[in-house]
Amino acid sequence: MIYDVIIIGGGVTGCCIARNLSKYDLKIALLEKEADIASGTTKANSGVVHAGFASPREYVKRDMCIKSNKLYTQAFEELNFSFQRIGSFVVALEDNQIKKLEEQRRQGTQDGVPGLEVILDKKKIKYMEPNLTDDVVGVLHAPTAGIVSPYGMTYALAENAAMNGVKFFRNQKVRRIKHQNYTFIIKTKDKEFKATNVINAAGVYGAKISKMVGLDYFNIMPRKGEYILFDRNAMHLNKILFPTPTKVSKGILVCPTVSGNTFVGPNAQNITDKKDISTTEAGLKEILEGGRHLVPNLPLRASIRNFAGLRAVPDTYDFIIDNTDVFGFINVVGILSPGLTSCYAIAERVTEFLELLGANMTVKEDYNPIRPKLDKFKDFSKIELDKKIKEDPAWGRIICRCETIPEKEILNAIHSPVGATTTDGIKFRCRPGMGRCQGGFCRPRLIEILSRELNIPYEDVVKTGEETNFLVAKTKEIVLRSLEGGSEE
Ligand SMILES: Cc1cc2nc3c(=O)[nH]c(=O)nc-3n(C[C@H](O)[C@H](O)[C@H](O)COP(=O)(O)OP(=O)(O)OC[C@H]3O[C@@H](n4cnc5c(N)ncnc54)[C@H](O)[C@@H]3O)c2cc1C
Repeated sequence: MIYDVIIIGGGVTGCCIARNLSKYDLKIALLEKEADIASGTTKANSGVVHAGFASPREYVKRDMCIKSNKLYTQAFEELNFSFQRIGSFVVALEDNQIKKLEEQRRQGTQDGVPGLEVILDKKKIKYMEPNLTDDVVGVLHAPTAGIVSPYGMTYALAENAAMNGVKFFRNQKVRRIKHQNYTFIIKTKDKEFKATNVINAAGVYGAKISKMVGLDYFNIMPRKGEYILFDRNAMHLNKILFPTPTKVSKGILVCPTVSGNTFVGPNAQNITDKKDISTTEAGLKEILEGGRHLVPNLPLRASIRNFAGLRAVPDTYDFIIDNTDVFGFINVVGILSPGLTSCYAIAERVTEFLELLGANMTVKEDYNPIRPKLDKFKDFSKIELDKKIKEDPAWGRIICRCETIPEKEILNAIHSPVGATTTDGIKFRCRPGMGRCQGGFCRPRLIEILSRELNIPYEDVVKTGEETNFLVAKTKEIVLRSLEGGSEE
């Protein structure tokens, strides 16, 4: 079988492109090297849908961000992911920073960012965000900025793409690509795929994939950003809070998540190892100090997790979205921040490229853009819940006590299109293990459920993928084996 399009990389970029293309009469496959989609940069970032005024005006990413922010409204209605337009503040702590805010407001407004306003009335600012430091002298308010679950949205995009016929292949690391007679032959460890068009959305590995077809015109360096996440009950923020930006980064922000937690981060550290997502004492100190300039009472004692993500930084510092010289090969790489925000506009650009390449862009008659809303225990009234439990007792078996997640939500996560096959896959889809105890109570139960539902032994259940098994064997078997070994000696 020859696919019309193969997408390499199952992050938000690849999945959004897959969903956009699934509307057309095309045979499409997506290859992801990890055991699950949304395992790269998409898994660990700030989850901010930026208003779009922050990048320099000459950059493609500014234009993409402004357009894509507007496209979130329709996507949210169709795909039912968690998204809230709560608005952001860029905070000035010194009078001389107000000039910068005024400039950002003027240019942003000219470029089509709605509702930008510089507020200098301290009482009003503190009313809008009481947690903000008393040292604030002014803010740039962007009401169209929002927060989103980056992986939640990516699962929704992938599920809807799969519903519309896109085939997802996980655990398929692309190792080689051959281009002959207008066909790409893509080799993974144990499979071969063929396609007329290939889209490279491989994140920090984008340059490696591009070089496989002889295109060596950019480099991508990882730049790490660390975070501290606080317990949901620790504090409640109304707004996304940015400091006045520096040249290399938007700075350390303090921000709520769609689940009601607060986080502080990220810093910006150039590194060489594309797998290094460790956190460091110095890094955490840096972000905590940075965050405290904006919110002095950050509740460190309520911190529940530290994590880090890697920006895919190209030498140009801008998105690379190219219909390349290799006919049918499209690079969508160097998708650093605001790539999460920009995904809808990026997907539209790629669709235009495919049209230019002669792909069949007839809209399918049975295309369905709706990904149904997921049933959640927490959204039911007492009466609805009683009814649900009578219909299916799995609604009443609570597996995660911190987040109140019943077995039924876990089963839905496993059996959805592009469903979870790892404990992290379940955690990121429906939150068991995201609460205060961080999985101490529910993880053994998740292992049991995955083993039963996927019909695999306990020892084959993994956290994220290869070599992340929880169990090596049953204790009894290990003892027996060692006894047998002993008797042979
Ligand atoms: C610290 C930080 C904060 C950020 N904050 C924001 C924000 O608030 N708002 C915003 O808009 N953007 C933000 N971003 C940027 C945003 O997260 C990224 O732009 C976006 O996640 C990029 O998605 P992607 O799909 O291009 O890359 P990825 O999510 O990395 O996906 C690439 C995928 O390709 C797969 N892959 C790689 N090599 C192969 C191979 N050989 N074969 C098969 N598959 C392969 C990987 O496993 C991965 O799943 C932030 C980024 C960071 C790091």
